[in-house]
Amino acid sequence: MTSLGYVRRAGECGVAADMAKKAYRRFFREGAREASLGRGRAVCAQVAPIVREEEEQTPEGEIRKFVQRLEGNTDPTGATGQSPVRMVADCSTTRTARHWTLSSGTQRRPVARDMPHFDIESVLIPMVGRQGLKSHTLCVSSQVGCAMGCGFCETAQMGLLRSLTPAEIVGQWWAATHERQAKIKNIVFMGMGEPLDNVEAVIRAIEVLTDHNGPAVPMSNIMVSTVGKADGLRRLCAQMGEPGWHKLGIAVSINAPNDAIRSQIMPINRATPMAELREAICEIPHVGTHRKICFGYVLIPGVNDAEAHAAELADYLRPFTRDGSPDGSHKGMLNLIPYNPRRDSPWPAPEEEAVERFLGWVRERGVYAKRRRTKGRDTMAACGQLGSEAIRKRRFVGVRLTDSPAGSGG
Ligand code: SF4
Repeated sequence: MTSLGYVRRAGECGVAADMAKKAYRRFFREGAREASLGRGRAVCAQVAPIVREEEEQTPEGEIRKFVQRLEGNTDPTGATGQSPVRMVADCSTTRTARHWTLSSGTQRRPVARDMPHFDIESVLIPMVGRQGLKSHTLCVSSQVGCAMGCGFCETAQMGLLRSLTPAEIVGQWWAATHERQAKIKNIVFMGMGEPLDNVEAVIRAIEVLTDHNGPAVPMSNIMVSTVGKADGLRRLCAQMGEPGWHKLGIAVSINAPNDAIRSQIMPINRATPMAELREAICEIPHVGTHRKICFGYVLIPGVNDAEAHAAELADYLRPFTRDGSPDGSHKGMLNLIPYNPRRDSPWPAPEEEAVERFLGWVRERGVYAKRRRTKGRDTMAACGQLGSEAIRKRRFVGVRLTDSPAGSGG
């Protein structure tokens, strides 16, 4: 819930607006779990505990994967699930106690049954700025597991256990900031799950994350990464027409030069082939004007790493290059990601020379491309490696891809 909504809700309970706003700010800015609401009333926040952490040293600092535990939920509507960021106003002296969750909105809620708990994984990635200032990028999860079934991804092995609520997404920022004292500069929705498969919750979470009385993360420092789920992309595009939203970063995982390969490693492609996906990307408001569209390409040895693949990919990305765009500027950027082998992976990681070679091939064909340096591989915190081995392949309730005949990713 944004500060505006929170103040309104508090007002319904007879709490003065300035007291409510102060409590909201204290929760987000100072990490205070309790705040006075005046007249002997108080508000306390419940945050899901961090139950596990893994670290890996890099030249920029420590990469830290942390896991928050949510109570299990036997109610598929999610009504009994614990939210990691819930503020409970004790109004019992005057009227019935109320729960004010910090985020609201419609969302598809849990689908799994009989789970003792759910673990949410987030990753803190250190960064050192130009002037030596240290900060972090926080990679957040939007679902527990994922239904998309990408063949190269660890999370896909879990299937979809449930989608997160907006509060659970924001709770990852809260835990990183106030429990791990990390200075978060950027937030990327690249953790477990497909954000646009949980688009309403992701939009509500971003509203909170950018709230000036709350985390106040600039919209331009947030990026949503998607495999290109068409209905979710349309919904996000509509939202990007709202004031301030045009600065939101969008990353699309392409990962293949053609439909045959993409359908093989990404079942979503059977529902939304690459040509259709490119049309949908071109409809993003102000495409590439405020921020380049980021195209992710996981380089997998023997699958998508040949020179012919680079040529096909460059053709596909032509409308987003300097040569292909109407105003002669790069509208997109290719982010080349060396494959991080998941558990029991059929493919190895690519050789360093293969990565550099592929980068050269696309660049000489006019594509603006960078490579992502691999961080977190040892702790299974790298891209495509999030996922709990313990609950992997457990029974879950499959969710049909809205646009796909492919079914769930499990
Ligand atoms: S790559 Fe992303 S969308 Fe695909 S299965 Fe993994 S988490 Fe889901």
